[in-house]
Amino acid sequence: MVTALYIHIPFCAAKCSYCSFNSYAGLEGLQSKYVDSLCAELKKMASEGDIGPLRTIFMGGGTPTLLHGSLLDTVLSSCFALFSVAPDAEISIEANPGTVDREKLDLLRKLGVNRISLGVQSFNDQELARIGRIHSGTEATRAVHMARAAGFNNLSIDLMYGLPGQNPGSWQTSLETGISLGLNHLSLYQLTVEEGTPLERMVREDRLQLPDDDEVAVMDAVSAELTAAAGLFQYEISNYAQPEYQCRHNITYWENREYMGVGSGAVSCLHGCRRRNIADPEQYCRLLEAGESVIIEEETLESDASFRESVIMGLRLNKGVSVGQLENRYGLLPEKYYGDLFKQLVADGLLEQRSGYLRLTARGRVFANQVMAELV
Ligand code: SF4
Repeated sequence: MVTALYIHIPFCAAKCSYCSFNSYAGLEGLQSKYVDSLCAELKKMASEGDIGPLRTIFMGGGTPTLLHGSLLDTVLSSCFALFSVAPDAEISIEANPGTVDREKLDLLRKLGVNRISLGVQSFNDQELARIGRIHSGTEATRAVHMARAAGFNNLSIDLMYGLPGQNPGSWQTSLETGISLGLNHLSLYQLTVEEGTPLERMVREDRLQLPDDDEVAVMDAVSAELTAAAGLFQYEISNYAQPEYQCRHNITYWENREYMGVGSGAVSCLHGCRRRNIADPEQYCRLLEAGESVIIEEETLESDASFRESVIMGLRLNKGVSVGQLENRYGLLPEKYYGDLFKQLVADGLLEQRSGYLRLTARGRVFANQVMAELV
């Protein structure tokens, strides 16, 4: 039974220099048509059956809060009309602090949205400008206060470290500012310089300098210390929360459970198949208008590959992956499946199996990418 729905909104006010997501600036004129297409795809999904009650709905992007209020209303009303939604469902939206005002936040609460994730990235205006964000640190703080005043008590912000021109001191200041806002959830991402982005070009041409590995290691240590002191517990490699406020929707991905994704470029994992929609929003609309399929890739997940994926994704979680559930689902045990590699990773102090869970050790989390590359 599928209980998680992701809705992709690909519009942004401007493209940030580091961004390689499926998002576009300058497509405001497409919003209304796009929402019609989303509703058509939602209807098609609903007719496939075996869905719900939905436990999580997640509107991501892009910048969902760039949509006009009436369009947000249309999308969410369609979800409630087409699917059964659990009374305590987590309904999340991603928001850019530069695109929210009190009126929109009030509307979102009225429409049933109960969790907001603000893409703050930094409270330092120079750092924000260097990566092309459209808001200031002060606007980000104001957005958090407005969201709380509108009734959002499940509030998260994203912050990034390893930014051009950032140093451990400025990272500490941003993180302290975020924590002082009394959030329930924090996502802390290390900047990845993606190929083909304006940021990659600027770094390659030495127009921007990134902090070195030692500075990033200090930033990691600062994150661990400040989050723990604030009672925000790391539950995933990049995510920290108060108990009860872990993001249920994202846990669906990390536990490698099925989900539906609608919108341009969205991925669904349904009935043992993974499928991906066409990324281009204009073509997405055109195909749906013509009554054609928007799926451009479809693969059946072989049991072995799915097992390895469940291990890799589950290791992102601090609690790890349940060995019993792996055995029930695939008839496979990690220790036997990986054999000598498993023994070596345990002997190196990177992996441990305790109380029925396989997890990365604290040292393993530092080398998470390498460990996962071995297990994939
Ligand atoms: S707001 Fe988010 S999705 Fe949009 S360009 Fe910036 S990073 Fe990408």
